[in-house]
Amino acid sequence: MDIDFNKNNDGLVPAIIQDQDTGKVLMLGYMNEEAYLKTNESKKVTFFSRTKQRLWTKGEESGNFLNMVSIKLDCDKDTLLIKVRPEGPVCHKGTDTCWAEENSAEYGFLSELEGIIASRKKLSETPKINRQENENSYVVSLFDKGLNKIAQKVGEEAVEVVIEAKDNDEDLFLNESADLLFHYMILLKAKGYGLEDIVKTLKQRHK
Ligand code: AMP
Ligand code: ZN
Ligand code: ZN
Ligand code: ZN
Repeated sequence: MDIDFNKNNDGLVPAIIQDQDTGKVLMLGYMNEEAYLKTNESKKVTFFSRTKQRLWTKGEESGNFLNMVSIKLDCDKDTLLIKVRPEGPVCHKGTDTCWAEENSAEYGFLSELEGIIASRKKLSETPKINRQENENSYVVSLFDKGLNKIAQKVGEEAVEVVIEAKDNDEDLFLNESADLLFHYMILLKAKGYGLEDIVKTLKQRHK
Protein backbone atom coordinates (compact mmCIF):
# COMPACT_ATOMS: atom_id res chain seq x y z
CA MET A 1 0.00 0.00 0.00
CA ASP A 2 1.39 3.40 -1.02
CA ILE A 3 0.79 5.32 2.22
CA ASP A 4 1.89 8.97 2.48
CA PHE A 5 3.54 8.85 5.92
CA ASN A 6 5.15 12.25 5.57
CA LYS A 7 2.27 14.68 5.14
CA ASN A 8 2.82 15.88 8.70
CA ASN A 9 6.60 15.42 8.62
CA ASP A 10 6.32 13.05 11.57
CA GLY A 11 6.05 9.71 9.79
CA LEU A 12 2.54 9.18 11.16
CA VAL A 13 -0.89 8.73 9.63
CA PRO A 14 -4.20 8.69 11.51
CA ALA A 15 -6.01 5.35 11.58
CA ILE A 16 -9.77 5.37 12.07
CA ILE A 17 -10.87 2.17 13.80
CA GLN A 18 -14.34 0.95 12.87
CA ASP A 19 -16.21 -2.16 14.00
CA GLN A 20 -16.70 -4.50 11.03
CA ASP A 21 -20.08 -5.72 12.27
CA THR A 22 -21.77 -2.69 13.84
CA GLY A 23 -20.22 0.08 11.74
CA LYS A 24 -19.43 2.09 14.90
CA VAL A 25 -16.26 4.18 14.97
CA LEU A 26 -14.39 2.82 17.98
CA MET A 27 -11.27 4.96 18.34
CA LEU A 28 -8.58 6.91 16.49
CA GLY A 29 -4.88 6.15 16.65
CA TYR A 30 -1.69 6.93 14.73
CA MET A 31 0.55 4.58 12.80
CA ASN A 32 4.06 4.82 11.44
CA GLU A 33 5.22 2.37 8.80
CA GLU A 34 6.45 -0.13 11.39
CA ALA A 35 3.09 -0.09 13.19
CA TYR A 36 1.30 -0.59 9.89
CA LEU A 37 3.52 -3.55 8.95
CA LYS A 38 3.17 -5.11 12.40
CA THR A 39 -0.62 -4.76 12.25
CA ASN A 40 -0.70 -6.53 8.89
CA GLU A 41 1.56 -9.29 10.08
CA SER A 42 0.04 -9.97 13.52
CA LYS A 43 -3.57 -9.00 12.64
CA LYS A 44 -3.68 -7.20 16.02
CA VAL A 45 -3.99 -3.44 15.49
CA THR A 46 -0.73 -1.79 16.53
CA PHE A 47 -0.26 1.97 16.72
CA PHE A 48 2.65 4.28 17.26
CA SER A 49 1.73 5.81 20.63
CA ARG A 50 2.54 9.53 20.65
CA THR A 51 2.40 9.50 24.46
CA LYS A 52 4.57 6.43 24.98
CA GLN A 53 6.74 7.20 21.89
CA ARG A 54 6.83 3.52 20.97
CA LEU A 55 4.87 0.85 19.17
CA TRP A 56 1.71 0.04 21.09
CA THR A 57 -0.40 -2.98 20.37
CA LYS A 58 -3.88 -2.05 21.52
CA GLY A 59 -4.80 -4.58 24.21
CA GLU A 60 -1.22 -5.40 25.23
CA GLU A 61 -2.09 -4.80 28.90
CA SER A 62 -5.87 -5.06 28.98
CA GLY A 63 -6.26 -8.00 26.60
CA ASN A 64 -8.80 -5.92 24.69
CA PHE A 65 -7.18 -6.49 21.31
CA LEU A 66 -8.49 -5.14 18.02
CA ASN A 67 -8.51 -7.98 15.51
CA MET A 68 -7.84 -6.56 12.08
CA VAL A 69 -10.28 -7.43 9.32
CA SER A 70 -9.30 -5.00 6.56
CA ILE A 71 -7.34 -1.80 5.92
CA LYS A 72 -8.27 0.86 3.36
CA LEU A 73 -6.40 3.99 2.33
CA ASP A 74 -8.31 7.23 1.69
CA CYS A 75 -8.42 9.34 -1.50
CA ASP A 76 -5.13 11.17 -0.94
CA LYS A 77 -3.35 8.28 0.79
CA ASP A 78 -2.86 9.96 4.18
CA THR A 79 -5.53 8.31 6.37
CA LEU A 80 -6.32 4.68 7.12
CA LEU A 81 -9.72 3.14 7.73
CA ILE A 82 -9.29 -0.10 9.64
CA LYS A 83 -12.18 -2.48 10.17
CA VAL A 84 -11.84 -4.66 13.24
CA ARG A 85 -13.55 -7.12 15.52
CA PRO A 86 -12.80 -5.85 19.06
CA GLU A 87 -12.20 -8.14 22.02
CA GLY A 88 -13.98 -6.26 24.80
CA PRO A 89 -14.38 -2.53 25.41
CA VAL A 90 -12.08 -0.32 23.34
CA CYS A 91 -11.59 2.76 25.51
CA HIS A 92 -9.22 2.62 28.47
CA LYS A 93 -12.03 4.27 30.45
CA GLY A 94 -14.03 1.08 30.02
CA THR A 95 -16.60 2.20 27.46
CA ASP A 96 -17.22 0.41 24.16
CA THR A 97 -15.97 3.34 22.09
CA CYS A 98 -13.75 6.35 22.84
CA TRP A 99 -16.86 8.53 22.49
CA ALA A 100 -18.60 6.65 25.32
CA GLU A 101 -21.05 5.03 22.93
CA GLU A 102 -22.53 1.57 23.04
CA ASN A 103 -21.09 -0.61 20.29
CA SER A 104 -24.43 -1.67 18.85
CA ALA A 105 -25.34 -1.78 15.18
CA GLU A 106 -26.39 1.35 13.33
CA TYR A 107 -29.11 1.01 10.76
CA GLY A 108 -29.35 4.69 9.91
CA PHE A 109 -32.92 5.94 9.82
CA LEU A 110 -34.26 2.55 10.95
CA SER A 111 -32.25 2.91 14.18
CA GLU A 112 -33.75 6.35 14.65
CA LEU A 113 -37.21 4.82 14.25
CA GLU A 114 -36.32 2.09 16.74
CA GLY A 115 -35.44 4.83 19.23
CA ILE A 116 -38.81 6.51 18.72
CA ILE A 117 -40.65 3.18 19.06
CA ALA A 118 -38.74 2.49 22.29
CA SER A 119 -39.78 5.85 23.74
CA ARG A 120 -43.44 5.18 22.80
CA LYS A 121 -43.25 1.83 24.59
CA LYS A 122 -41.94 3.61 27.70
CA LEU A 123 -44.86 6.03 27.53
CA SER A 124 -47.37 3.22 27.31
CA GLU A 125 -45.88 1.85 30.54
CA THR A 126 -46.88 5.02 32.42
CA PRO A 127 -50.54 5.18 33.56
CA LYS A 128 -52.85 7.08 31.21
CA ILE A 129 -53.73 9.72 33.83
CA ASN A 130 -50.06 10.68 34.12
CA ARG A 131 -49.65 11.26 30.37
CA GLN A 132 -49.75 14.56 28.54
CA GLU A 133 -52.46 15.13 25.93
CA ASN A 134 -49.95 14.91 23.05
CA GLU A 135 -48.45 11.68 24.37
CA ASN A 136 -51.28 9.42 23.19
CA SER A 137 -49.84 8.65 19.78
CA TYR A 138 -50.85 5.81 17.46
CA VAL A 139 -47.81 3.74 18.48
CA VAL A 140 -48.51 4.33 22.18
CA SER A 141 -52.09 3.12 21.64
CA LEU A 142 -50.79 -0.02 19.92
CA PHE A 143 -48.53 -0.81 22.88
CA ASP A 144 -51.53 -0.10 25.17
CA LYS A 145 -53.56 -2.73 23.32
CA GLY A 146 -50.83 -5.31 23.84
CA LEU A 147 -48.86 -8.02 22.10
CA ASN A 148 -51.77 -9.95 20.50
CA LYS A 149 -53.17 -6.86 18.84
CA ILE A 150 -49.72 -5.85 17.55
CA ALA A 151 -49.07 -9.35 16.16
CA GLN A 152 -52.47 -9.29 14.46
CA LYS A 153 -51.62 -5.93 12.90
CA VAL A 154 -48.39 -7.40 11.45
CA GLY A 155 -50.46 -10.23 9.95
CA GLU A 156 -52.84 -7.76 8.33
CA GLU A 157 -50.04 -5.67 6.88
CA ALA A 158 -48.33 -8.82 5.56
CA VAL A 159 -51.53 -9.80 3.74
CA GLU A 160 -51.77 -6.29 2.28
CA VAL A 161 -48.20 -6.59 0.98
CA VAL A 162 -49.06 -9.93 -0.64
CA ILE A 163 -52.12 -8.42 -2.32
CA GLU A 164 -50.22 -5.38 -3.61
CA ALA A 165 -47.32 -7.54 -4.83
CA LYS A 166 -49.69 -9.07 -7.38
CA ASP A 167 -51.00 -5.69 -8.48
CA ASN A 168 -49.16 -3.21 -10.64
CA ASP A 169 -49.45 -0.16 -8.39
CA GLU A 170 -45.84 0.27 -7.23
CA ASP A 171 -46.78 3.10 -4.91
CA LEU A 172 -49.26 0.96 -2.99
CA PHE A 173 -46.72 -1.87 -2.80
CA LEU A 174 -44.09 0.43 -1.33
CA ASN A 175 -46.57 1.90 1.13
CA GLU A 176 -47.77 -1.48 2.37
CA SER A 177 -44.16 -2.66 2.62
CA ALA A 178 -43.39 0.35 4.79
CA ASP A 179 -46.45 -0.43 6.96
CA LEU A 180 -45.28 -4.01 7.37
CA LEU A 181 -41.73 -3.11 8.31
CA PHE A 182 -42.91 -0.44 10.75
CA HIS A 183 -45.41 -2.72 12.51
CA TYR A 184 -42.89 -5.56 12.51
CA MET A 185 -40.41 -3.30 14.31
CA ILE A 186 -43.13 -2.51 16.86
CA LEU A 187 -43.76 -6.25 17.33
CA LEU A 188 -40.04 -6.87 17.83
CA LYS A 189 -39.96 -4.15 20.48
CA ALA A 190 -43.09 -5.50 22.19
CA LYS A 191 -41.30 -8.86 22.45
CA GLY A 192 -38.19 -7.13 23.84
CA TYR A 193 -36.12 -7.41 20.67
CA GLY A 194 -34.73 -5.15 17.96
CA LEU A 195 -33.41 -5.37 14.41
CA GLU A 196 -29.96 -6.22 15.76
CA ASP A 197 -31.25 -9.50 17.22
CA ILE A 198 -32.68 -10.57 13.88
CA VAL A 199 -29.48 -9.64 12.07
CA LYS A 200 -27.55 -11.69 14.64
CA THR A 201 -29.70 -14.73 13.84
CA LEU A 202 -29.30 -14.21 10.10
CA LYS A 203 -25.53 -13.98 10.51
CA GLN A 204 -25.41 -17.23 12.49
CA ARG A 205 -27.12 -18.98 9.58
CA HIS A 206 -24.73 -17.36 7.13
CA LYS A 207 -21.64 -19.08 8.62
P1 AMP B 1 -4.31 -1.54 26.33
O1 AMP B 1 -3.59 -1.26 25.06
O2 AMP B 1 -5.80 -1.68 26.12
O3 AMP B 1 -3.76 -2.72 27.06
O4 AMP B 1 -4.15 -0.28 27.26
C1 AMP B 1 -2.86 0.12 27.67
C2 AMP B 1 -2.84 1.63 27.87
O5 AMP B 1 -3.01 2.26 26.63
C3 AMP B 1 -3.94 2.20 28.74
O6 AMP B 1 -3.62 2.22 30.08
C4 AMP B 1 -4.04 3.62 28.21
O7 AMP B 1 -3.02 4.44 28.68
C5 AMP B 1 -3.81 3.42 26.75
N1 AMP B 1 -5.07 3.20 25.99
C6 AMP B 1 -5.78 2.06 25.92
N2 AMP B 1 -6.84 2.19 25.11
C7 AMP B 1 -6.81 3.45 24.64
C8 AMP B 1 -7.62 4.20 23.75
N3 AMP B 1 -8.71 3.66 23.17
N4 AMP B 1 -7.29 5.48 23.46
C9 AMP B 1 -6.20 6.01 24.03
N5 AMP B 1 -5.40 5.36 24.88
C10 AMP B 1 -5.68 4.10 25.19
ZN1 ZN C 1 -6.79 12.15 3.16
ZN1 ZN D 1 -10.61 6.23 24.84
ZN1 ZN E 1 -51.16 -1.30 5.39
